[in-house]
Amino acid sequence: MFKANSNYASTPELKKKVTVKDIKTVHTSFKKSIKKTKCLCSSCLEIIDGEVFEENGEIWLYKQCGKDGEQRVRHLISNPIVYYALQELHKDRVALNEGLIFKTTYRCNQQCLYCFMSANEHDIPDVDKKKLIGQIKQFKGDVVYLSGGEPTLRDDLCDIIAEIKNLSFRSVLFTNGKKLTDRTYVRKLKKTGLDAVILQFDSLDDEDCLKICGEKLAALKMAVVENLKKEGMCTLLYVNVVGGINDTRVKALFDYAISHDNIRLLFFNPLWPIGRRGESKKLNFSDMLDCVVKKLGIPYDYFIESTRFSTYVFEILRKLRFREGIKEPPCSVSCYLLRDGKKYVSLDSIINLPKVNHCLQSLEAHIDREKNRCVNIGRLLLIKEFYVLLCATLFNVKVFKYACKALVYFLSNPTRFTNLYFMFINVLSVMVGQYPDKHTIEFSLFKTCNMHTESGNGKSLPTCLREIYADAGKL
Ligand SMILES: [Zn+2]
Repeated sequence: MFKANSNYASTPELKKKVTVKDIKTVHTSFKKSIKKTKCLCSSCLEIIDGEVFEENGEIWLYKQCGKDGEQRVRHLISNPIVYYALQELHKDRVALNEGLIFKTTYRCNQQCLYCFMSANEHDIPDVDKKKLIGQIKQFKGDVVYLSGGEPTLRDDLCDIIAEIKNLSFRSVLFTNGKKLTDRTYVRKLKKTGLDAVILQFDSLDDEDCLKICGEKLAALKMAVVENLKKEGMCTLLYVNVVGGINDTRVKALFDYAISHDNIRLLFFNPLWPIGRRGESKKLNFSDMLDCVVKKLGIPYDYFIESTRFSTYVFEILRKLRFREGIKEPPCSVSCYLLRDGKKYVSLDSIINLPKVNHCLQSLEAHIDREKNRCVNIGRLLLIKEFYVLLCATLFNVKVFKYACKALVYFLSNPTRFTNLYFMFINVLSVMVGQYPDKHTIEFSLFKTCNMHTESGNGKSLPTCLREIYADAGKL
């Protein structure tokens, strides 16, 4: 397993481990049917039957349309190791979407060459505030995502955030950051109750920004991150990875993110071929993950074990709080890196992650949503894994040391990150995921989809499906 305790990206031993785990070398050529599913015909977009299968060390999707004939595409998660791990993790789960995206405007103060919304091309007025709040009230999950176009173009954005807070949802803002160069505005957003900002952050190189967004934006983005840091705003960086342009910037973006403790997520998302889309080299989820694994020296195993850990921990907490939703969707993987002074460490350098995951899995299985919290806690106290887990953490010097550091961090930053889960842990999550397009969309993934988009009259659809329909004018 991955045991980083220093700047591991330059550690030859870890690089070697990545090579050993290269999936292409461990699978031989054979064809194996995995499951029947529903999907979309890539031509007519009708819902049709499909089959997931494995061949030559990759996962594929076979589709058959009565009108347009047979189609065969690489599965969204074509890497078999990751595919089977996520299947196993999600197999008995059905979850309501934890997050819901609301499109507050179709206007934007940027004209990116790549934009799944095709912002500024629609003649659609901004959604009326009252109507928007009415839609939000019907949402059953936890997190409201305010999206656009560019939501900061709305003068009533803070009023909307205040209403969301009154309704006891968390609020997260998608933004290109241009308006956040004004620190007073950032302070106002924070004071109003905004929980986090998802900042589009494609590159630290102006030439890349020019090719992707049509503008030199590197200095602006860095100034925005500084403002967000000064105001203690939880910051998530969303990297729209365009093959042939910024796919070589993975390490530079990581180095930047790890050195800013307000940045809690670095999300590498290969270009979604929807809406306005300039030229690009094709890049899917598995290509992206390969690239991140190689550039950052984080093994596949660590991504998988971290994703399992996160899923179990959040599911246990959610079940005990009788909340619906799911933290980790079936179309992404993420891993945690704990900041420790100038260094960073992986979770499995502190705990035996597979062993801890085994215990957490057992704990989760013993919680019954139908029973009350006391009964559930009683059930947990009766199983062996509870005590194994306790021993693995309580009697672990490394855990104790890190807990002390976390306490110092928390006490020295009492007003910061107050709206976050586990705000005392100084952690960066590196995430790789991709929204399916009309070729790769596969309906079996929807049962644990955590991100929907409002699609009118209080209804919502998985974000990928909604945007595929919208792009084709079929909504
Ligand atoms: Zn068709």
